[in-house]
This record gives sequence, C-alpha cells and structure tokens, in this order.
Amino acid sequence: RPVLELKDLRVSYGEDDNSVDAVRGVDISVAPGEFVAVVGESGSGKSTTAHAVLGLLPETGRVTGGRIVLGDDDITSAGERRLRDIRGSRVGLVPQDPLVSLNPVMRVGAQVAETLRLHTGAGRRAAAARAVELLAEVGLPDPASRAQQYPHELSGGMRQRVLLANAWACLPELVIADEPTSALDVTVQRRVLDLLDAMRREHGTAVLFITHDLGVAAERADRIVVMRHGRVVETGTPAALLAAP
Ligand code: ADP
Ligand code: ADP
Repeated sequence: RPVLELKDLRVSYGEDDNSVDAVRGVDISVAPGEFVAVVGESGSGKSTTAHAVLGLLPETGRVTGGRIVLGDDDITSAGERRLRDIRGSRVGLVPQDPLVSLNPVMRVGAQVAETLRLHTGAGRRAAAARAVELLAEVGLPDPASRAQQYPHELSGGMRQRVLLANAWACLPELVIADEPTSALDVTVQRRVLDLLDAMRREHGTAVLFITHDLGVAAERADRIVVMRHGRVVETGTPAALLAAP
C-alpha cells in the first residue's frame, strides 16, 4: 500500500466570494521508498499540495475536497494535535526556509538530540552523542562545536543540514522536501539529494520532492508529477516524460 495517497485533493485560499482554487483535484500516490518529484511553474500549486499534507496551510487556506491518506490513516480532517504528532514522527519535512522551523532559542545539537529522544527512546547522553554523529553525516562542518550554536549563528546551508539531520532522526516513512535546493549552491544541493537517497536506502523512506528544477527531478526521481494551474497534467518516469514530444 502507498505511503501517501492524495485522492482528488482540492485546496482553496480566501473567502467563498473571493477565493482562489490553488489545487483543483490532484491525485498523487507515493509507494514506500519511492522518490516522487513534483514539478511545475511557480504558482502551479506544488507548495499548497505539500502544506495540505502536512497540515501547514496558512489560516486562509483550507482543503475543500478529496482525501489525504497516510498509510492506513485518513488524515483529511485530522486535528492540529494529531497532525503535529504526524509531522514529528511519520513525516519529515525539509522546508524552504530552515529558519522558521528551527527553535531559535535552542542549540541545534540539542534540537536533534531531542528529536532522537522522542523517536528512538534514546537516553540523554546517547542522544546527544548520536546527534553530533548525525550532524557530521549530513556534512555540517565542525559538528561538535556547531552543535553548541543557535540557528541564527549558522549559514542557510548549515541550517538546511541541521533540518536534514532532524528529519533523519525521526526515521520517517516519508520526507517532504519543499524546494530544499532553491537557495543552495550546487555542492550543498548535491549533498542534500545524496542524503535523501541515503535515507531511502537505509530506512526505506519515501521522498516527495517539490521543485521547479526539472533537471534535478529527472536525475533523481523514480517518477515525476507535473502540475499546472492546480492540476496534475502529466505523470511518468523521467525517461518517459523526457522522451515525450
Ligand atoms: P514559490 O513559487 O517559490 O513556491 P511563491 O513566491 O509562490 O513561492 O510563494 C512564497 C510564499 O508566499 C508561500 O508561502 C505562499 O504561500 C505565499 N503566497 C504565494 N502566493 C500568494 C498570494 N497570492 N497571497 C498570499 N500569499 C501567497
Ligand atoms: P507553487 O508552489 O507551485 O509555486 P503555490 O502552491 O505556492 O504554487 O500557489 C498556488 C496558487 O495559490 C497560486 O495561485 C498562488 O498565488 C496561490 N496562493 C499560494 N499561497 C497563497 C496564500 N497564502 N493566499 C492566497 N493565495 C495563495
């Protein structure tokens, strides 16, 4: 069974008389361990789709139709609490701006350690040590001392790595990466993608990768979903899509 299934998903922003239909009947399914890239121009509804799955739509946004099914669980109308649990355990998120989702007043090593404690039941000392190892694995330079710093003391690329370490720490079934490469240089981008690959290999984690970079999608994805104006207009393997006239 798929890790994630979106059935005829519809999402709107704003009030009834003045609303924007951002997502207009989208079907996407992601198998365990599969890497699915969602591509499309700016405004095609990619981020809205990702945010709906994570229960992270802004206040003006709402799901107006369809279903969101995670494994065996229909989470279409799950409450805030349940969605928060899901975000912290079953679905990892690598958002566009790592600053917003890191705790600004907690040292980054402690944030990763806290995630490990929650999800693996590791003790305090073991979690702290493993957090530094994870930060090293994601390529954070000088991880032992960087772990002692706060998010604002790190560069954007470093914060992105901290988030990856954090996503990894929860051993999720699915990682949703929303344009994780947009603000990164090519080396860091490659590293992020390699890490997502490693998570797939080692944990069977599925990846839903939101991007407007068709090149990256073609290189890494098992399957590409193309969105336009809030709809899925094409879906297929990179080879099939790129061969199409
Ligand atoms: P991208 O196309 O790179 O995904 P956008 O520039 O479209 O990013 O959107 C950036 C942020 O602005 C997102 O959080 C999105 O929800 C918000 N946003 C986009 N369009 C609107 C809009 N028409 N009104 C209010 N917020 C918007
Ligand atoms: P993408 O991620 O593909 O760039 P989005 O999901 O951000 O697309 O946007 C899809 C549509 O929804 C666009 O028309 C955008 O302007 C609109 N939109 C996005 N966020 C908001 C928002 N917070 N309020 C109103 N409209 C929004």
